[in-house]
Amino acid sequence: MRKKNIMKPDFEKQALIPVIVQDYRTRQVLMLAYTNEEAYEKMLATGETWFYSRSRQKLWHKGEESGHFQHIKGMKLDCDSDTLLVFVEQIGAACHTGAYSCFFNDVQAFDDTDIFAALEDQIADRKANPKEKSYTNYLLDQGIDKVLKKVGEESAEVIIASKNPDKEELLGEVDDLLYHLFVLLNQRDITLEEVRSKAKERHQIQGNKKEFHTRTAD
Ligand code: AMP
Ligand code: ZN
Ligand code: ZN
Ligand code: ZN
Repeated sequence: MRKKNIMKPDFEKQALIPVIVQDYRTRQVLMLAYTNEEAYEKMLATGETWFYSRSRQKLWHKGEESGHFQHIKGMKLDCDSDTLLVFVEQIGAACHTGAYSCFFNDVQAFDDTDIFAALEDQIADRKANPKEKSYTNYLLDQGIDKVLKKVGEESAEVIIASKNPDKEELLGEVDDLLYHLFVLLNQRDITLEEVRSKAKERHQIQGNKKEFHTRTAD
């Protein structure tokens, strides 16, 4: 049997509990820090991250100097309540170097980009800072009817490519269709987060409640 979750970090076991901070939207890991009971209570009270700085030996409200605050969207404890996972909306950058995430040093290279979140951001960025010769800016300037026409065309191309046994062409057409859908979502002010929520609701998918049964029950 899995032990019942105690919904508070076990500060009796350890005065300092590691905190993994993750972007609530992309799930990118942003930083790791430590909390004590006082910092933890402040997180609950303020909805922003507070840590205990081991080097400076004091409570630390993330963003207090940089303005790069973290708004808490959710928290989880691990199996034995000695590690905290916090989902945040990051303002500015999590790292004091100015990097969005502290984890930018490749030991073994692995591209962890959430491509659809990045695509959503790129389209929003083109809208805010138009670029010459940008196809996205061309589409945005033409207006929603042009985008809809492209969604129709790319849908037809997906259908045609599906008849080809080689999957490269189909992959390309699926990406064309997805890209144009993302531009459409931008035009209608719908976020990827809303699309994800709707998909979870409609497909009744609830998150990491799965268990691996590798042993017989106690
Ligand atoms: P801030 O909380 O961003 O205002 O930064 C306050 C202090 O914490 C500065 O001394 C930073 O160098 C340090 N600091 C900020 N973010 C991090 C981080 N992700 N990891 C380690 N130290 C940090
Ligand atoms: Zn643990
Ligand atoms: Zn850092
Ligand atoms: Zn196409």
